[in-house]
Amino acid sequence: MKLAVIEGDGIGKEVIPAALQVLDCFSLPFEKIPVEVGYGRWEKTGQAISNEDIATLKECDCILFGAVTTPPDPNYKSVLLTIRKELDLYANIRPIHPIKGIKGINESNDFDILIVRENTEGMYSGIEEVGEEVAFTKRIVTKRCSMRIAEIACKFAKKHNQKLTIVHKSNVLKSDSLFLNTCRQVADSMGVEHNDMLVDAMAYDMIRSPQKYGVVVATNLFGDILSDLGAVLVGSIGLVPSANIGKNQALFEPVHGSAPDIAGQGIANPIAAILSVKMLLDWIGEEDAARQVELAVENTILKGITTPDLGGTATTQELTHEIVKTLCSNI
Ligand code: ATP
Repeated sequence: MKLAVIEGDGIGKEVIPAALQVLDCFSLPFEKIPVEVGYGRWEKTGQAISNEDIATLKECDCILFGAVTTPPDPNYKSVLLTIRKELDLYANIRPIHPIKGIKGINESNDFDILIVRENTEGMYSGIEEVGEEVAFTKRIVTKRCSMRIAEIACKFAKKHNQKLTIVHKSNVLKSDSLFLNTCRQVADSMGVEHNDMLVDAMAYDMIRSPQKYGVVVATNLFGDILSDLGAVLVGSIGLVPSANIGKNQALFEPVHGSAPDIAGQGIANPIAAILSVKMLLDWIGEEDAARQVELAVENTILKGITTPDLGGTATTQELTHEIVKTLCSNI
C-alpha cells in the first residue's frame, strides 16, 4: 500500500514525524513516499506543488498530511485546495469527539459529533474576481456534489445509529435550497432520521447543547467554520483530526494549520496528527489498531502528560514517546 507523506510547513514538520512513530508501531505493509509541497517549497523554487507531485499523489492509496502555510499573496494558490480538487477528495470528515481526561468548554463530555463537510465546491469554488472597487467569489452548489456528500453523511449516521442534521442558510442564500432539499431527499431514501438548522443558530446551539447532535452535514465554508468551533468543545484545536475521502483515495490531516506562532519550539500538540493516523487505520480496515491508538492517547492523557495548549509542560516528542510506549505495551 502506497502512503504519501507530506509534512508541509510550520508544525507540520513536527507533528507528522510524531504521527509516523505511532504508525510504525504496527507492522503494516506501507511504502512511504515523502512529497515536499507547501510554502517552504514555493520560497525555494517558486512552485508550491507541481503536476508531477499531483501525479505521484494520484498513484498513492492514501496521504498523511501535516499543514501548509498560505501566505496573503494573490499569486499563491492553496496547496490543500489543489490536492482536494485534483484528487476529488469530496468528503471532509471531522469528528468532534471528547477525549477522556480533557474537559472542553462544556461541563459534560457526553457528546459525539461528526462533521461531514462538502469539500469541492461552495465558497471554495475558486471562481473569484478581485477589483479595486468590487470583489466577488462565486458560490457553487450542485445536485451531484450535494447528493454524494449527503450519501456519505447518511452512511455514517446509519453506522453510528445517529441522527443527521443538515446545516444551511437557505433563508438568505438561494443556492442552499438545492443543498437542503437534496440532503433531505437522500436522507429520506436511505431511511435516516434528519432535521435541519440555520448555520448561525447551529453555531450557538452546538456549543450550548452538543449532545443534541450526531452527524452534521454542511457545505464547504460552513463545515470549515463549525469544525474549528467544535474544537473548543474538545479542548484544543491540537486534538482534532480529519479525513478527506474520495472514491478510491483518502488524505488524513489534523484540522489545525501550520501554527507559525509556535513552530520550531517543539511544543505543538501531536494528538490531532496521531488521531489522523487512527482515522487512516480505520479507513484501511485496521479497526483494532485504530482503537489501540485511541486508547494509548487516552491513557497517556489520563497520566497527566500534556502539551502547553492543554496546560501541561510536555514537549511534542515527550508526549509522542509516552503514547508510543503505552501503545507498544498493549500490542
Ligand atoms: P495557518 O495559516 O497555517 O492556518 P494559523 O496560525 O492561522 O495557521 P492554526 O495553525 O490552526 O492557524 O493555529 C491557530 C492557533 O492554534 C494558533 O495560536 C496555534 O498556535 C494554535 N495551534 C494550532 N495547532 C496547534 C497544535 N497542534 N498544538 C498547539 N497549538 C496549536
